[in-house]
Amino acid sequence: MVDLPTTTPPAQPTTGNDEVDALHPLKPYRSLENEVLQQRIEAVRQELGDELLILGHHYQQDEVIEHTDLRGDSYQLSEMAAKSQACRTIVFCGVHFMAETADILANRPDRIEARDGRRVDVLLPDMAAGCSMADMAAIAQVEAAWADMSEVIDTEQVIPVTYINSAASLKAFCGRNGGIVCTSSNARAVLEWAFERGQRVFFFPDQHLGRNTALTMDITEEQMPVWDPYALEMGGNTDEQIKSSRVILWKGHCSVHQMFRAEHVDRFRKEHPGIKILVHPECPREVNDIADVSGSTGKIIQTVKNSPAGTKWAIGTELHLVNRLKDEHPEQEIHFLSPVVCMCATMYRIDLTHLCWTLENLRDGRLVNQIRVDEETTKWSLIALERMLAVK
Ligand code: SF4
Repeated sequence: MVDLPTTTPPAQPTTGNDEVDALHPLKPYRSLENEVLQQRIEAVRQELGDELLILGHHYQQDEVIEHTDLRGDSYQLSEMAAKSQACRTIVFCGVHFMAETADILANRPDRIEARDGRRVDVLLPDMAAGCSMADMAAIAQVEAAWADMSEVIDTEQVIPVTYINSAASLKAFCGRNGGIVCTSSNARAVLEWAFERGQRVFFFPDQHLGRNTALTMDITEEQMPVWDPYALEMGGNTDEQIKSSRVILWKGHCSVHQMFRAEHVDRFRKEHPGIKILVHPECPREVNDIADVSGSTGKIIQTVKNSPAGTKWAIGTELHLVNRLKDEHPEQEIHFLSPVVCMCATMYRIDLTHLCWTLENLRDGRLVNQIRVDEETTKWSLIALERMLAVK
Protein backbone atom coordinates (compact mmCIF):
# COMPACT_ATOMS: atom_id res chain seq x y z
CA MET A 1 0.00 0.00 0.00
CA VAL A 2 1.36 3.41 -0.97
CA ASP A 3 0.97 6.38 1.33
CA LEU A 4 0.12 9.71 -0.23
CA PRO A 5 2.54 12.11 1.43
CA THR A 6 1.50 15.31 -0.26
CA THR A 7 -1.53 16.94 -1.80
CA THR A 8 -1.81 18.42 -5.25
CA PRO A 9 -0.66 22.03 -5.81
CA PRO A 10 -3.24 24.70 -4.94
CA ALA A 11 -5.70 25.63 -7.65
CA GLN A 12 -5.67 29.22 -8.88
CA PRO A 13 -8.78 31.08 -7.69
CA THR A 14 -10.40 31.55 -11.09
CA THR A 15 -13.98 31.19 -12.20
CA GLY A 16 -13.07 29.71 -15.58
CA ASN A 17 -14.69 32.71 -17.30
CA ASP A 18 -11.95 35.03 -18.65
CA GLU A 19 -14.12 38.15 -18.64
CA VAL A 20 -15.30 37.62 -15.07
CA ASP A 21 -11.79 36.72 -13.94
CA ALA A 22 -10.39 39.95 -15.39
CA LEU A 23 -12.66 41.93 -13.02
CA HIS A 24 -12.07 39.72 -10.03
CA PRO A 25 -10.62 41.58 -7.03
CA LEU A 26 -8.12 38.78 -6.50
CA LYS A 27 -6.65 39.19 -9.97
CA PRO A 28 -3.58 41.24 -8.88
CA TYR A 29 -2.71 38.51 -6.37
CA ARG A 30 -2.93 35.55 -8.71
CA SER A 31 0.38 36.09 -10.42
CA LEU A 32 2.34 36.54 -7.18
CA GLU A 33 4.83 33.87 -6.15
CA ASN A 34 4.22 32.17 -2.81
CA GLU A 35 7.35 33.78 -1.39
CA VAL A 36 5.98 37.25 -2.13
CA LEU A 37 2.56 36.37 -0.69
CA GLN A 38 4.24 35.05 2.46
CA GLN A 39 6.25 38.26 2.91
CA ARG A 40 3.19 40.45 2.42
CA ILE A 41 1.10 38.36 4.85
CA GLU A 42 3.81 38.65 7.48
CA ALA A 43 4.10 42.41 6.90
CA VAL A 44 0.38 42.85 7.71
CA ARG A 45 0.68 40.60 10.76
CA GLN A 46 3.55 42.75 12.03
CA GLU A 47 1.66 45.96 11.38
CA LEU A 48 -1.60 44.89 13.04
CA GLY A 49 0.01 43.03 15.95
CA ASP A 50 -2.34 41.78 18.68
CA GLU A 51 -5.37 43.35 17.04
CA LEU A 52 -5.31 40.58 14.46
CA LEU A 53 -5.80 36.91 15.25
CA ILE A 54 -5.40 34.38 12.46
CA LEU A 55 -6.91 31.00 13.31
CA GLY A 56 -6.03 27.76 11.50
CA HIS A 57 -8.04 24.57 11.69
CA HIS A 58 -6.09 21.31 12.05
CA TYR A 59 -7.18 20.29 8.54
CA GLN A 60 -5.77 23.40 6.95
CA GLN A 61 -2.83 23.13 4.53
CA ASP A 62 0.67 23.75 5.95
CA GLU A 63 1.49 26.86 3.91
CA VAL A 64 -1.50 28.60 5.52
CA ILE A 65 -0.96 27.10 8.99
CA GLU A 66 2.50 28.71 9.01
CA HIS A 67 0.85 32.14 9.18
CA THR A 68 -1.68 31.39 11.93
CA ASP A 69 -1.54 32.49 15.56
CA LEU A 70 -3.54 29.55 16.89
CA ARG A 71 -4.21 26.05 15.63
CA GLY A 72 -7.00 23.77 16.84
CA ASP A 73 -10.40 22.29 16.10
CA SER A 74 -13.31 24.59 15.40
CA TYR A 75 -14.56 24.82 18.97
CA GLN A 76 -11.11 25.24 20.57
CA LEU A 77 -10.26 28.00 18.12
CA SER A 78 -13.45 29.94 18.76
CA GLU A 79 -13.01 29.69 22.50
CA MET A 80 -9.37 30.78 22.31
CA ALA A 81 -10.37 33.70 20.12
CA ALA A 82 -13.18 34.70 22.47
CA LYS A 83 -10.69 35.01 25.34
CA SER A 84 -8.45 37.48 23.56
CA GLN A 85 -8.85 41.01 24.92
CA ALA A 86 -6.73 42.82 22.38
CA CYS A 87 -8.12 41.18 19.26
CA ARG A 88 -10.23 43.33 16.92
CA THR A 89 -10.38 41.02 13.93
CA ILE A 90 -10.34 37.25 13.57
CA VAL A 91 -9.35 35.80 10.21
CA PHE A 92 -10.61 32.23 10.27
CA CYS A 93 -8.72 29.83 8.03
CA GLY A 94 -11.36 27.13 8.28
CA VAL A 95 -14.86 26.85 6.83
CA HIS A 96 -18.03 28.91 7.02
CA PHE A 97 -19.73 27.32 10.06
CA MET A 98 -16.51 27.72 12.06
CA ALA A 99 -16.40 31.44 11.32
CA GLU A 100 -20.05 31.72 12.38
CA THR A 101 -19.28 29.98 15.68
CA ALA A 102 -16.31 32.30 16.22
CA ASP A 103 -18.56 35.32 15.61
CA ILE A 104 -21.12 34.02 18.13
CA LEU A 105 -18.64 33.06 20.86
CA ALA A 106 -16.26 36.00 20.46
CA ASN A 107 -19.19 38.42 20.64
CA ARG A 108 -21.00 36.94 23.65
CA PRO A 109 -22.45 39.74 25.80
CA ASP A 110 -19.90 39.14 28.59
CA ARG A 111 -17.01 39.25 26.13
CA ILE A 112 -18.25 42.46 24.54
CA GLU A 113 -18.60 43.99 27.98
CA ALA A 114 -15.05 42.94 28.87
CA ARG A 115 -13.90 44.80 25.73
CA ASP A 116 -15.79 47.95 26.71
CA GLY A 117 -18.55 47.35 24.20
CA ARG A 118 -16.32 46.55 21.25
CA ARG A 119 -17.25 43.70 18.89
CA VAL A 120 -14.73 41.50 17.10
CA ASP A 121 -15.05 41.22 13.31
CA VAL A 122 -14.72 37.74 11.82
CA LEU A 123 -13.47 37.26 8.25
CA LEU A 124 -13.38 34.11 6.12
CA PRO A 125 -10.77 34.51 3.36
CA ASP A 126 -12.90 32.62 0.81
CA MET A 127 -16.69 32.58 1.10
CA ALA A 128 -16.77 29.37 -0.93
CA ALA A 129 -15.04 27.55 1.94
CA GLY A 130 -18.14 25.72 3.13
CA CYS A 131 -18.64 22.28 4.65
CA SER A 132 -20.33 19.54 2.65
CA MET A 133 -21.73 18.02 5.85
CA ALA A 134 -23.18 21.28 7.14
CA ASP A 135 -24.73 21.86 3.71
CA MET A 136 -26.60 18.54 3.94
CA ALA A 137 -29.01 19.97 6.51
CA ALA A 138 -30.78 23.20 5.59
CA ILE A 139 -32.87 24.83 8.29
CA ALA A 140 -36.05 24.57 6.16
CA GLN A 141 -35.48 20.82 5.82
CA VAL A 142 -34.91 20.37 9.54
CA GLU A 143 -38.03 22.37 10.39
CA ALA A 144 -40.06 20.36 7.89
CA ALA A 145 -38.77 17.10 9.40
CA TRP A 146 -39.69 18.34 12.90
CA ALA A 147 -43.22 19.14 11.75
CA ASP A 148 -43.56 15.76 10.00
CA MET A 149 -42.40 13.71 12.96
CA SER A 150 -44.72 15.66 15.26
CA GLU A 151 -47.59 13.89 13.48
CA VAL A 152 -46.57 10.57 15.02
CA ILE A 153 -44.52 11.40 18.13
CA ASP A 154 -44.60 14.10 20.79
CA THR A 155 -41.77 16.44 19.84
CA GLU A 156 -41.86 17.89 23.36
CA GLN A 157 -40.13 14.62 24.23
CA VAL A 158 -37.57 14.88 21.41
CA ILE A 159 -34.29 16.65 22.14
CA PRO A 160 -32.65 18.07 19.01
CA VAL A 161 -28.86 17.75 19.04
CA THR A 162 -26.71 19.36 16.39
CA TYR A 163 -23.07 18.62 15.78
CA ILE A 164 -21.02 21.82 15.96
CA ASN A 165 -20.31 21.24 12.26
CA SER A 166 -23.59 22.86 11.24
CA ALA A 167 -24.96 26.23 10.25
CA ALA A 168 -25.80 28.71 13.01
CA SER A 169 -29.48 28.44 12.03
CA LEU A 170 -29.46 24.77 13.14
CA LYS A 171 -27.80 25.64 16.42
CA ALA A 172 -30.51 28.26 16.91
CA PHE A 173 -33.18 25.63 16.14
CA CYS A 174 -31.75 23.52 18.96
CA GLY A 175 -31.66 26.51 21.29
CA ARG A 176 -35.33 27.28 20.61
CA ASN A 177 -36.46 23.65 21.03
CA GLY A 178 -34.75 22.61 24.25
CA GLY A 179 -31.78 21.16 22.39
CA ILE A 180 -28.04 21.39 22.47
CA VAL A 181 -24.83 21.42 20.42
CA CYS A 182 -22.17 18.69 20.63
CA THR A 183 -18.61 18.25 19.43
CA SER A 184 -16.95 14.97 18.52
CA SER A 185 -15.25 14.93 21.92
CA ASN A 186 -18.37 15.41 24.08
CA ALA A 187 -21.04 13.70 21.94
CA ARG A 188 -21.68 10.91 24.44
CA ALA A 189 -22.01 13.28 27.43
CA VAL A 190 -24.36 15.43 25.38
CA LEU A 191 -26.53 12.44 24.44
CA GLU A 192 -26.71 11.46 28.12
CA TRP A 193 -27.79 15.04 28.92
CA ALA A 194 -30.46 14.79 26.23
CA PHE A 195 -31.82 11.45 27.50
CA GLU A 196 -32.20 12.96 30.97
CA ARG A 197 -34.61 15.46 29.40
CA GLY A 198 -36.47 13.55 26.71
CA GLN A 199 -37.34 10.14 25.33
CA ARG A 200 -35.65 10.56 21.98
CA VAL A 201 -32.90 12.48 20.24
CA PHE A 202 -33.06 14.03 16.79
CA PHE A 203 -29.38 14.15 15.74
CA PHE A 204 -28.06 16.16 12.79
CA PRO A 205 -26.31 16.64 10.45
CA ASP A 206 -23.79 13.73 10.78
CA GLN A 207 -25.43 10.32 10.95
CA HIS A 208 -22.09 8.60 11.63
CA LEU A 209 -21.14 10.56 14.74
CA GLY A 210 -24.70 10.12 16.03
CA ARG A 211 -24.76 6.38 15.33
CA ASN A 212 -21.23 5.61 16.52
CA THR A 213 -21.86 7.48 19.76
CA ALA A 214 -25.31 6.01 20.47
CA LEU A 215 -24.00 2.47 19.85
CA THR A 216 -21.71 2.92 22.86
CA MET A 217 -24.84 3.58 24.95
CA ASP A 218 -26.55 0.27 24.20
CA ILE A 219 -28.85 1.82 21.63
CA THR A 220 -29.28 -0.54 18.69
CA GLU A 221 -29.11 0.22 14.98
CA GLU A 222 -32.83 -0.68 14.74
CA GLN A 223 -33.61 2.08 17.22
CA MET A 224 -31.87 4.62 14.99
CA PRO A 225 -33.87 5.26 11.82
CA VAL A 226 -32.18 7.52 9.28
CA TRP A 227 -34.16 10.59 8.22
CA ASP A 228 -33.74 11.31 4.51
CA PRO A 229 -34.85 14.90 3.85
CA TYR A 230 -35.50 14.03 0.21
CA ALA A 231 -37.85 11.10 0.92
CA LEU A 232 -41.50 11.74 0.25
CA GLU A 233 -42.87 10.77 3.66
CA MET A 234 -41.56 10.56 7.22
CA GLY A 235 -37.94 10.81 6.04
CA GLY A 236 -38.32 7.44 4.30
CA ASN A 237 -39.45 5.63 7.48
CA THR A 238 -42.67 4.01 8.61
CA ASP A 239 -44.60 5.64 11.44
CA GLU A 240 -43.72 2.59 13.52
CA GLN A 241 -39.96 3.09 13.00
CA ILE A 242 -40.24 6.67 14.21
CA LYS A 243 -42.39 5.66 17.19
CA SER A 244 -39.94 2.99 18.30
CA SER A 245 -36.84 5.15 17.73
CA ARG A 246 -34.42 6.34 20.38
CA VAL A 247 -32.21 8.41 18.07
CA ILE A 248 -33.42 9.75 14.72
CA LEU A 249 -30.33 10.29 12.57
CA TRP A 250 -30.18 12.88 9.83
CA LYS A 251 -28.94 11.48 6.53
CA GLY A 252 -25.77 13.56 6.38
CA HIS A 253 -22.07 12.76 6.41
CA CYS A 254 -18.62 14.24 6.01
CA SER A 255 -17.43 13.66 2.46
CA VAL A 256 -13.87 13.27 3.76
CA HIS A 257 -14.43 10.71 6.55
CA GLN A 258 -17.08 8.82 4.56
CA MET A 259 -14.27 7.67 2.23
CA PHE A 260 -12.65 5.32 4.75
CA ARG A 261 -13.62 1.65 4.35
CA ALA A 262 -13.35 -1.58 6.32
CA GLU A 263 -11.20 -3.07 3.54
CA HIS A 264 -8.60 -0.32 4.12
CA VAL A 265 -8.36 -1.46 7.74
CA ASP A 266 -8.11 -5.13 6.68
CA ARG A 267 -5.33 -4.40 4.20
CA PHE A 268 -3.24 -2.47 6.72
CA ARG A 269 -3.62 -5.20 9.34
CA LYS A 270 -2.57 -7.83 6.81
CA GLU A 271 0.38 -5.90 5.38
CA HIS A 272 1.61 -4.29 8.64
CA PRO A 273 1.22 -6.75 11.53
CA GLY A 274 0.86 -4.93 14.85
CA ILE A 275 -0.39 -1.71 13.31
CA LYS A 276 -3.05 0.23 15.21
CA ILE A 277 -6.02 1.83 13.53
CA LEU A 278 -6.96 5.31 14.76
CA VAL A 279 -10.07 6.96 13.29
CA HIS A 280 -12.42 9.90 13.71
CA PRO A 281 -16.02 9.06 14.71
CA GLU A 282 -17.30 10.79 11.55
CA CYS A 283 -16.14 7.59 9.79
CA PRO A 284 -18.85 5.04 8.91
CA ARG A 285 -19.77 2.41 11.50
CA GLU A 286 -18.04 -0.41 9.57
CA VAL A 287 -14.70 1.38 10.13
CA ASN A 288 -15.37 2.80 13.57
CA ASP A 289 -16.39 -0.61 14.96
CA ILE A 290 -13.14 -2.32 13.99
CA ALA A 291 -10.70 0.52 14.78
CA ASP A 292 -8.40 0.26 17.80
CA VAL A 293 -9.09 3.85 18.81
CA SER A 294 -11.83 6.24 17.73
CA GLY A 295 -11.86 9.86 18.78
CA SER A 296 -12.03 13.54 18.00
CA THR A 297 -9.25 15.43 16.26
CA GLY A 298 -7.90 16.42 19.67
CA LYS A 299 -7.91 12.81 20.84
CA ILE A 300 -6.17 11.63 17.66
CA ILE A 301 -3.39 14.17 18.19
CA GLN A 302 -3.00 13.31 21.89
CA THR A 303 -3.07 9.56 21.24
CA VAL A 304 -0.17 9.81 18.80
CA LYS A 305 1.70 12.25 21.06
CA ASN A 306 1.42 9.92 24.06
CA SER A 307 2.47 6.75 22.25
CA PRO A 308 5.92 5.21 22.54
CA ALA A 309 8.46 5.45 19.72
CA GLY A 310 8.05 2.73 17.16
CA THR A 311 4.25 2.60 17.38
CA LYS A 312 2.67 1.93 13.99
CA TRP A 313 -0.52 3.80 13.08
CA ALA A 314 -2.92 3.93 10.17
CA ILE A 315 -5.01 7.04 10.72
CA GLY A 316 -8.44 7.72 9.26
CA THR A 317 -8.95 11.45 9.25
CA GLU A 318 -8.22 14.43 7.02
CA LEU A 319 -5.01 14.13 5.00
CA HIS A 320 -3.33 17.40 6.01
CA LEU A 321 -3.60 16.53 9.68
CA VAL A 322 -2.22 13.02 9.13
CA ASN A 323 0.72 14.38 7.12
CA ARG A 324 1.44 16.92 9.85
CA LEU A 325 1.38 14.20 12.52
CA LYS A 326 3.78 12.22 10.37
CA ASP A 327 6.18 15.19 10.20
CA GLU A 328 5.90 15.95 13.91
CA HIS A 329 6.38 12.33 15.04
CA PRO A 330 9.21 10.80 13.02
CA GLU A 331 9.77 8.40 15.97
CA GLN A 332 6.51 6.66 15.02
CA GLU A 333 5.38 5.01 11.80
CA ILE A 334 2.30 6.85 10.57
CA HIS A 335 0.24 5.95 7.51
CA PHE A 336 -2.84 7.46 5.97
CA LEU A 337 -5.64 4.87 6.18
CA SER A 338 -7.07 5.31 2.68
CA PRO A 339 -5.31 4.66 -0.65
CA VAL A 340 -7.10 7.68 -2.10
CA VAL A 341 -6.77 11.34 -1.13
CA CYS A 342 -9.31 12.29 1.55
CA MET A 343 -8.89 15.98 2.12
CA CYS A 344 -11.29 18.74 2.99
CA ALA A 345 -11.49 20.32 -0.46
CA THR A 346 -13.54 23.28 0.72
CA MET A 347 -11.16 24.21 3.53
CA TYR A 348 -8.36 23.87 0.98
CA ARG A 349 -9.85 26.83 -0.91
CA ILE A 350 -8.26 29.06 1.71
CA ASP A 351 -4.80 29.58 0.29
CA LEU A 352 -2.05 32.20 0.49
CA THR A 353 -3.69 34.23 -2.25
CA HIS A 354 -7.00 34.60 -0.41
CA LEU A 355 -5.27 35.15 2.92
CA CYS A 356 -3.03 37.91 1.57
CA TRP A 357 -5.96 39.60 -0.20
CA THR A 358 -8.07 39.51 2.99
CA LEU A 359 -5.28 40.86 5.18
CA GLU A 360 -4.22 43.69 2.90
CA ASN A 361 -7.82 44.83 2.58
CA LEU A 362 -8.12 44.75 6.35
CA ARG A 363 -4.96 46.81 6.73
CA ASP A 364 -6.39 49.34 4.28
CA GLY A 365 -9.60 49.61 6.29
CA ARG A 366 -11.86 47.31 4.24
CA LEU A 367 -13.54 44.25 5.74
CA VAL A 368 -13.91 41.61 3.03
CA ASN A 369 -15.89 38.40 3.49
CA GLN A 370 -17.16 39.33 6.92
CA ILE A 371 -19.23 36.68 8.72
CA ARG A 372 -21.86 38.24 10.94
CA VAL A 373 -24.63 36.09 12.41
CA ASP A 374 -27.89 37.99 12.92
CA GLU A 375 -28.99 38.83 16.47
CA GLU A 376 -31.89 36.41 16.73
CA THR A 377 -29.87 33.46 15.43
CA THR A 378 -26.97 34.40 17.71
CA LYS A 379 -29.24 34.55 20.76
CA TRP A 380 -30.68 31.04 20.28
CA SER A 381 -27.40 29.50 19.08
CA LEU A 382 -25.72 30.77 22.20
CA ILE A 383 -28.35 29.09 24.35
CA ALA A 384 -27.63 25.74 22.68
CA LEU A 385 -23.87 26.30 22.93
CA GLU A 386 -24.08 27.30 26.59
CA ARG A 387 -26.07 24.16 27.39
CA MET A 388 -23.19 22.22 25.88
CA LEU A 389 -20.64 24.15 27.94
CA ALA A 390 -22.55 23.23 31.10
CA VAL A 391 -22.35 19.49 30.29
CA LYS A 392 -19.52 17.91 32.22
S1 SF4 B 1 -13.64 17.66 7.06
FE1 SF4 B 1 -15.80 17.16 6.65
S2 SF4 B 1 -16.96 17.95 8.38
FE2 SF4 B 1 -14.91 18.89 8.45
S3 SF4 B 1 -15.18 20.84 7.38
FE3 SF4 B 1 -14.47 19.36 5.84
S4 SF4 B 1 -16.37 18.52 4.93
FE4 SF4 B 1 -16.95 19.57 6.83
